[in-house]
Parts: sequence; structure tokens; C-alpha cells
Amino acid sequence: MPNTYDPQNIFARILRGEIPNKTVLETAHTLAFHDIHPQAPIHVLVIPKGPYVTFDHFAAEASAEELLDFHRTTASVVAMVGAAEGGYRAISNAGVNGMQEVPHYHLHILGGRVLGRLVERA
Ligand code: AMP
Repeated sequence: MPNTYDPQNIFARILRGEIPNKTVLETAHTLAFHDIHPQAPIHVLVIPKGPYVTFDHFAAEASAEELLDFHRTTASVVAMVGAAEGGYRAISNAGVNGMQEVPHYHLHILGGRVLGRLVERA
């Protein structure tokens, strides 16, 4: 997926306050909110506020401050939603093969049940 950011994507609209969200935690560079269609009892999305499309885009181009804030916020969110106790999965889909729907980098935090294998056999 090219790193061309679409400012009309739904998470950009959430960040601008055009669409409501169920916020878990917000910091200077990061927003965490509940997924609108949860796939598990715990399903939170963590997004950077900057215009990054995928994990690798964010990892390559975000500032040290953004990277630190994102990861420390994710750790706080995992604790806040009670995901750490039973275990959880942190995953990020990218591009066509990853079946990414929203072209703004996001980390899914899933937990609250046994999640099955990481990838289904084709
Ligand atoms: P992905 O397929 O990795 O791009 O995941 C996109 C996720 O965003 C899906 O799990 C959707 O349920 C979720 N989603 C889409 N729109 C919203 C929204 N307005 N608020 C919260 N989550 C959303």
C-alpha cells in the first residue's frame, strides 16, 4: 500500500471530531477507542494522531516522541481494559494482503477469550 494518506478516512474524521468514538485513552499523539464491531470481548483500536497509513509507515517516519507515546499509551490501554491478565493479541493489518479496511495505522488489541490461531489456512 502506498504511504499516500487519505485525510477523509474514517479514523481521520474521528480525530477531527466529525464522528464520535468511545475513547479509552487519549494523549498528545495517540487515541485509543473501542472498535465499533468488536471481534472479542475486548477489542480496542490504538491509533497515532499523525497521518500514517500502515505499521511500517509509522515505524519508519514517526518521530521518537510519537513512537514512544504510541507504545506507552498502548501499554496503559492493555492494563486499563484488563487484557493483560488473560492474555491478548496485538495485530495490525496492512494493505491488500492484510485486508486493511481503514487506511490509517491502527493496532487492534483483542482479548477476553481464547483467540484461536493467528492465521487461517487458505
Ligand atoms: P482493519 O480491517 O484492520 O482496517 O480494521 C478496521 C477496524 O475499524 C474494524 O475492526 C472496524 O470494525 C473498525 N471501525 C470502523 N469504523 C469504526 C468506527 N467509526 N469506530 C470504531 N471502529 C471502527
